[in-house]
Amino acid sequence: MAKLLLEKVEKRYEGFHAIKGVDLSIDDREFVVFVGPSGCGKTTLLRMIAGLEEITGGDFSIDGVRANDIPPDKRGLAMVFQTYALYPHMTVAENMGFALKMAKVPKAEIEKKVAHAAEMLQLDKVLARRPKALSGGQRQRVAIGRAIVRNPKGFLFDEPLSNLDAALRVQMRTELVKLNKQLETTMIYVTHDQVEAMTMADRIVVLNGGIVEQVGSPLELYHNPANLFVAGFIGSPKMNLLEGEIAARDDAGADVKLDDGGTIRVEAANIAAAPGLRVTLGTRPEHTALAADGEIGGTADFVEHLGNETLVYVKRPGEKQMIVKADDLAGVRMGDPVRMKPQSARAVLFGPDGKALL
Ligand code: ATP
Repeated sequence: MAKLLLEKVEKRYEGFHAIKGVDLSIDDREFVVFVGPSGCGKTTLLRMIAGLEEITGGDFSIDGVRANDIPPDKRGLAMVFQTYALYPHMTVAENMGFALKMAKVPKAEIEKKVAHAAEMLQLDKVLARRPKALSGGQRQRVAIGRAIVRNPKGFLFDEPLSNLDAALRVQMRTELVKLNKQLETTMIYVTHDQVEAMTMADRIVVLNGGIVEQVGSPLELYHNPANLFVAGFIGSPKMNLLEGEIAARDDAGADVKLDDGGTIRVEAANIAAAPGLRVTLGTRPEHTALAADGEIGGTADFVEHLGNETLVYVKRPGEKQMIVKADDLAGVRMGDPVRMKPQSARAVLFGPDGKALL
């Protein structure tokens, strides 16, 4: 069991306010990902949960017990670092069992736990090797194995896959998610990579400048970003964001007159916006079609063929570039004039304060 609760948690370094009143509840067995740009505070928040960094304000509890002042080794949470920190002179088995040996756990029990974790992580064939004779992925697994044998209530991962090549990263993502279900423990995972967050998380916590911008499932964040920051951060390629103002509004939606002239219908009940309000309209590249009757004009600036689909980067005079993604754009050539049509039911609207209006 590990239910973690953060209430108005703060971190003030000398002269720098890194975490500004974070409220967050993490359920037992949940896989939660902290994501955000460099410097947003995700590592600091993780280290505060681990006990490696002092909490300077607010309350943190584990399973209902206030944990602000509990030392790291008494929290029952195991941290796995980006640099695996393996002992080079020890074998895989010795590395994995080291913490238990220090805790004076009987040898037979250590061997049993190490063997069990090794099997789970497919390390059983390399237990006698030293770290230098392992691949990057295997080293990462040893670091995870070292945490597993301690049977923690929760795992804390700080960018654990960033030293691996792209293919291995994808494989390890799946393995970590499976491990979460298999071990039935809470996991918190820090990354700056929103694709990693989207593919792994039960819930994503988007951090920016020491505050939580939004907490939700990957699809909630994708389809209903709470604000412009989340809209721009989650999703690859990025959501197209267009400036304009509300021209008309009724119960079923609103007409948005874009600054570049076109008027886009946004279908959503009860949009909280009156005519004249300045808005930003968001439309994802896959919800934006190239169509002869499209409301927005431009020129195909660059065409990227990904095999199963094509991305068309569209230049618009005096306005921001837009991206269209579809599987039937192979015929578009650089320099072609194009017209774009956002899907009315998929577009999202943000008010002048950057907050979602839908
Ligand atoms: P990255 O992805 O680059 O690792 P991050 O989101 O994990 O970024 P943190 O390492 O948590 O960011 O740092 C958050 C902010 O706190 C940064 O602006 C950093 O410069 C600042 N910070 C971290 N440690 C200290 C410190 N000891 N003293 C002062 N400021 C610090």
